[in-house]
Amino acid sequence: MTHVLTLNSGEQLHYQLAHRQRRSVGLKITATGLVVHAPKRISQAELEGIIAQKADWVRKKLAAMLANQVPAMRWQHGEALLFLGQNMTLAIAHDLQSKAVVHEPGFLFVALPQPQDAKLVARKVILWYKKQALQDFTRRLEIFSSKLGANFASLTLSNAGSRWGSCNSRKEIRLNWRLLQAPPHIINYVVCHELAHLKEMNHSAKFWAIVASLCPDYKMAEKELKSLSATLHRI
Ligand SMILES: [Zn+2]
Repeated sequence: MTHVLTLNSGEQLHYQLAHRQRRSVGLKITATGLVVHAPKRISQAELEGIIAQKADWVRKKLAAMLANQVPAMRWQHGEALLFLGQNMTLAIAHDLQSKAVVHEPGFLFVALPQPQDAKLVARKVILWYKKQALQDFTRRLEIFSSKLGANFASLTLSNAGSRWGSCNSRKEIRLNWRLLQAPPHIINYVVCHELAHLKEMNHSAKFWAIVASLCPDYKMAEKELKSLSATLHRI
């Protein structure tokens, strides 16, 4: 059930209240907002006093969550997609046959017999991304591995939830195809990071020195990648 708490400042806090078999009051921020878990016997006044004390924390967490919320992709005509950090508009057209996806500056053209079928549109576009990612990442790996003077064995595209890349002792590199949406300097950073593992299979100071030699602005790129993460996982 949703409750509203009016703070001394006049500000209103909305929260979902659930009574639980517990001794203390627990607050958490979920996708739907503030959820309060309270012991069964607590009075409303006591409960509201505790929530009011944590108002700053709640405000901060809610703001952070809103900033990270990215609207879900609906795969409709006119929606925005990202490619190497640039916006492109998804243009979906009806055609009697499913056509190859065409990329022109600012646009991605998709034509198929079922233009309303979001799943089919998504599948076509994601296949296109993967194909481009394989070409793009291979080229970057080749450039930076020759700078580094170490060879990688293979590149595989990954679909991992949170990892952007990996490199194992067999020198096999995996990179998340979603990175192709990111600006080039961020892709370069991930490529350099994984290549540096060819020489150092750890995250030691020596490892970061190798990353820095290939990619001097890696710290900025790493931060940017973190803040972009939710956006890149939209598809
Ligand atoms: Zn690493």
